Amino acid sequence: MSTYDAIVIGLGGLGAATLDRLARRGLRVLGLDRFAPPHDRGSSHGELRITREAIGEGAQYVPLAQRSHQLWREIEQESGESLFVGCGLLVIGKRGGAARHHGQTDFVGNTIASAERFGIRHEILAAVEVERRYPQFAIGADALGYFEPGAGFLRPERCVAAQLALAQLHGAELQTGARVIALEQARAGASVAVTTERGRRLARHVVLAAGPWLPELVPASIAAHFRVYRQVQHWFTPDPPEAFARGRFPVFIWMHGDDAGAHFYGFPSDSADGAVKIASEDYGTPVSPEDVEHAVEAAEAHAMFEQHVRGRLRGMQPRPARSSVCLYTSTPDGAFVIDVHPKMAGVTILSACSGHGFKHSPAIGEAVAERIVDGQSTLDLAPFALSRFG
Ligand SMILES: Cc1cc2nc3c(=O)[nH]c(=O)nc-3n(C[C@H](O)[C@H](O)[C@H](O)COP(=O)(O)OP(=O)(O)OC[C@H]3O[C@@H](n4cnc5c(N)ncnc54)[C@H](O)[C@@H]3O)c2cc1C
Repeated sequence: MSTYDAIVIGLGGLGAATLDRLARRGLRVLGLDRFAPPHDRGSSHGELRITREAIGEGAQYVPLAQRSHQLWREIEQESGESLFVGCGLLVIGKRGGAARHHGQTDFVGNTIASAERFGIRHEILAAVEVERRYPQFAIGADALGYFEPGAGFLRPERCVAAQLALAQLHGAELQTGARVIALEQARAGASVAVTTERGRRLARHVVLAAGPWLPELVPASIAAHFRVYRQVQHWFTPDPPEAFARGRFPVFIWMHGDDAGAHFYGFPSDSADGAVKIASEDYGTPVSPEDVEHAVEAAEAHAMFEQHVRGRLRGMQPRPARSSVCLYTSTPDGAFVIDVHPKMAGVTILSACSGHGFKHSPAIGEAVAERIVDGQSTLDLAPFALSRFG
């Protein structure tokens, strides 16, 4: 049996990026996925993802976001696909807010501090100025707007497809419909054996990027750090439709209270039906990716509209055109896990979710590839070590 330099398990946002970056470094690589990405069973679907440089989740993410913005543009050039739309982003709320967002309080204040520290182009707007520019918003006078003109949205399915195609151009092999059922150390520690339902492969390095299924493939002591949560994305219909078109409306994240869950986010319309994607976050009951409910009930859309949209977005109609379920794989502190498997030195555990990983995926893929090929990465991955959990 021939040995690959590296096998990437899971080809969603993170795995596709890592496979592409490993292949570019000249390694003999194989990408495995149980489905055929891009697909709608994991975490990397739903047409739109926010990307921004001033990261309210912490300064450690800013270099990842900035490098990713460079890489998204390069990937666009290489693939000929439109992946990153820099339509501007507005963070609305108050400084010092107590609501937790991806593990941190004061998301507005942290975002502004990040922009100031890293010299990221931005404006701070009074509520009245936000409403003058964007009359679609009805904002309380005590809130402010942080506007980042270079931020915007990514098209996740296209990003995944483009990177898988580029990985193949650089020599990567892909096997879809190949569920990994076991990972074990082989040949006295020199290689890792990866068993799928279709056979066994050896590799010197393995990157485990299985998203919400990752807890099933790691020891229980590591799986205990992750919880999978069902999230619902809705596409509401605006009236008039052009009011929320790109150029007239930005991406937004709105922290509208201090209670857990008192925030939502949305995008300008980007689909043929003119619908506007709007969502909040739900950390109620953990789920399993195997038996999570993918159907969305009308009551869920109704609750979303009443709790977040009504009275805040002028002209948005209460019934969504469509809704879809997606999964968060969250850690207790909302930060990523990028580290070596404690029992198998050749295996990298890669979980960059907690609801905010997609934007960083090409830079993370590049850093993981550097670690494998060069033994160290240009960007700092130390904040994502497992040792922080004690
Ligand atoms: C609703 C929602 C909104 C989000 N919004 C944003 C945002 O605005 N900005 C942002 O930056 N991030 C956002 N995120 C987070 C971001 O999308 C995730 O961080 C990212 O998609 C995670 O990608 P992944 O590759 O880790 O997981 P996935 O995309 O789930 O990929 C994992 C892959 O592993 C495969 N797999 C699993 N088990 C096996 C196995 N045993 N064998 C073989 N293959 C396997 C699966 O089929 C899947 O293709 C959001 C997430 C959700 C759900």
